[in-house]
Amino acid sequence: MFKKILIANRGEIALRIIRACKELGIRTTLAYSEADRDSLPVQIADEAICIGEANPQNSYLNISSIISAAEITDADAIHPGYGFLAENPHFAEVCESCGIKFIGPSAENIRTMGNKIEARKIMKKKGIPVIPGSLEPVNNKEEALNIANRIGYPVIIKAAAGGGGRGMRICHSDIRLISAFITAQSEAETAFGNSSVYIEKYLENPRHIEIQIAGDNFGNIIYLFERECSIQRRHQKLIEETPSLVLNAKLRRMLCDYAVKGAKAINYSNVGTMEFLMDKEGKLYFIEMNTRIQVEHTITEELTGIDLIKLQIKLAAGDRLDIKQEDVKPRGHIIEFRINAEDPENNFLPSPGTIDFLHLPAGFGVRIDTHAYQGYKIPPYYDSMIGKMIVKDKTRKSAIEIAKRCLDEFMVEPLKTTIPLYKKILTDENFVKGNYNTGFLTRYTGPEVGNE
Ligand code: ADP
Repeated sequence: MFKKILIANRGEIALRIIRACKELGIRTTLAYSEADRDSLPVQIADEAICIGEANPQNSYLNISSIISAAEITDADAIHPGYGFLAENPHFAEVCESCGIKFIGPSAENIRTMGNKIEARKIMKKKGIPVIPGSLEPVNNKEEALNIANRIGYPVIIKAAAGGGGRGMRICHSDIRLISAFITAQSEAETAFGNSSVYIEKYLENPRHIEIQIAGDNFGNIIYLFERECSIQRRHQKLIEETPSLVLNAKLRRMLCDYAVKGAKAINYSNVGTMEFLMDKEGKLYFIEMNTRIQVEHTITEELTGIDLIKLQIKLAAGDRLDIKQEDVKPRGHIIEFRINAEDPENNFLPSPGTIDFLHLPAGFGVRIDTHAYQGYKIPPYYDSMIGKMIVKDKTRKSAIEIAKRCLDEFMVEPLKTTIPLYKKILTDENFVKGNYNTGFLTRYTGPEVGNE
């Protein structure tokens, strides 16, 4: 097992990883940016080392600084968390070539699935349904028009290397497609360093359902059931729950089998997530694989009782998967709320600043993963998530009651947060009935941008 892990990340996930390491008896080094000097993970890690300026390019994305920090502090592994370098195959390769274990899948796994066109091809070949559309990069507007007319409008243009809900454009007509296509290519180049784009049928108001999987280096792969992540703003998740209300036992089994089959097709090792969309008719399609730990991994932990960060570390250390599929027993109903410092009344405008008063809910059925503390100044340079509130109970109905109680207790003064929006959602008849999809939030926020 590793003696020391360097954490190349920040915020709640850095803290989450430090906690898992402590319980495993592994020492931790936190690599932090100047803007995070006063952050909680810096205080709690065994040691912390500044790797550069606030701008992520100079710190959390600066590969040479991170590797130097690992070498100076004698770390034998690096955990990338999520975001930043977590899905950068070059970083995984550099780690390996420096004799430092990258806690995640192989660089090859990351590279293959990081190209969404490649991923679609692999899945299709294995008989897993993908959304109708292109299986090769779309190079010019003529090709784009051909595909769009073959599959029918509306269509969505997506960046092959895209992520984080960015770089997608929905088009309803030839004229819109032509103008959106050129912009999509150049935006993809700027945002992801790769101008390759593809086109899919745009499903109207689908549900986003994903399957957590875990694999070892010996070809064993298990599934850890689903997460329903349809409550989104700008294609980014805000509320996640498990089990999904729209999967019966047969559909659940089918989706889990797809996920394992897809992961086996690329000899996947470590934890990962296969994402699917369900259309109005209940048909399921693969959209992409995330080759890292996800923000919402916590609801799977609560469902299965498995610590996914510890599992990641053990699998990266070369351990055999010691959990048998039949021993994974989902229990209860779990809902996660991402607490973001942003104003839901004002187009989710980030609301960084100092937290003058913080009160976190506690009591039966709630888990809070946060790096926030009273007096903490949220830096403006990074993602606005300041924590996650996860509630659990035997039934969805009682989990919702716990959530309502906890949101009433939750105080993050004087910042604007997503809490008031969640209070409204929890009394929304359709949410309560489980009758929602990825279009649900537009009734609170107005239509999404990027819909042409
Ligand atoms: P990213 O990697 O940027 O998160 P995804 O491919 O995972 O992108 O898609 C994110 C979200 O965008 C989905 O959960 C869904 O809400 C929406 N989306 C993506 N593809 C489609 C599609 N073909 N039709 C409808 N919505 C889509």
